[in-house]
Amino acid sequence: MVSEPLTDGHGRRIADLRVSVTDRCNFRCQYCMPAEGLPWLERDEVLRFEEITRLVALFARLGVHDVRLTGGEPLVRRDFPRLVGMLAALDGIEDLAITTNGFLLERDAGALVAACETRERRARGIRFNVSIDSLQRDRFYALTRRDALDQVLRGLARLAEYPQAHPIKVNAVALRGVTEDEVPAFVELARHSAYEVRFIEFMPLDADRAWSSDQVLTGAELHAMIDALHPLEPTEREPGATARVYRFADGHGRIGFINPVSEPFCGDCNRIRLTADGRLRTCLFSLRETDLRGPLRDGADDDQLAQLIRDAVWRKELKHRIGEPGFVQPARTMSAIGG
Ligand code: SAM
Ligand code: SF4
Repeated sequence: MVSEPLTDGHGRRIADLRVSVTDRCNFRCQYCMPAEGLPWLERDEVLRFEEITRLVALFARLGVHDVRLTGGEPLVRRDFPRLVGMLAALDGIEDLAITTNGFLLERDAGALVAACETRERRARGIRFNVSIDSLQRDRFYALTRRDALDQVLRGLARLAEYPQAHPIKVNAVALRGVTEDEVPAFVELARHSAYEVRFIEFMPLDADRAWSSDQVLTGAELHAMIDALHPLEPTEREPGATARVYRFADGHGRIGFINPVSEPFCGDCNRIRLTADGRLRTCLFSLRETDLRGPLRDGADDDQLAQLIRDAVWRKELKHRIGEPGFVQPARTMSAIGG
């Protein structure tokens, strides 16, 4: 029963799990958190490492082979490399990845890479997405409300010292009126470094609920700007991929566009999410969640948990409805979901 692969009611096989390990963060990005932060979960509400590991092992037996650790800021969780090591040791996880704002990478990159070195499995080290929305110090400060660009760039450089961490992705949320003049610098980074740069469209998941469609700088607009600087060629899209990836025609690097608003990729979405307090979400925009922490702590066995997961996944939303009449922004915002 546990070994049947996870499938939703629309025939999509679920293979990708995003795990939020904390709702806390050391940044206050404008498009994500309010300046004063959010009411944090109590310590006891947050899944313990053993609980996360048990659930991830169960998901792996249900056919999930890609796991991304996120938050909030995952590196602010105390002893986070130990959790990475516990997950790295599980069977069935092909891809283990971390999404981070990079602030603590200078401190932790070595420990995180080392945590995966003992993995006795076919997996390929660990992958990182580092979020950097601006390459200008004052703009970075304005966007994240932290004067931390230099610290983040040092963390990125430290990470890049480890061949096992490559390829490293640098993700930037694109905002109209903000990101346009950053394009040349990001293009230079993509072309003359080992990093793959990807722009993400701004989604209505901000805590200030200030999102409006006219603030979305679309991937198509960015593509046109970049193509005019240096011609781009498409690469083949893998099923379930969030990014449309292009290579520079002259062979210098790659750049990607994650366009959930203007070009939704719900049709072959294979992702689900586990929040820091143990709720299963079947879409970023879910209005409904399934509590796994309660049954887990009440002694549910793997078959019982697997049935809860299967039932929730079966009801996975067909698509998000951004831009449609009646769209409702979920109560949880990006940092509390785990982006
Ligand atoms: N703190 C880590 C970080 O910033 O990388 C991980 C969590 S963060 C919620 C994950 C990703 O979501 C980041 O790349 C961030 O830029 C992105 N994000 C946050 N709010 C967003 C929004 N409203 N629209 C689009 N992307 C958003
Ligand atoms: Fe923190 Fe990441 Fe949200 Fe920025 S985007 S406030 S770094 S969780």
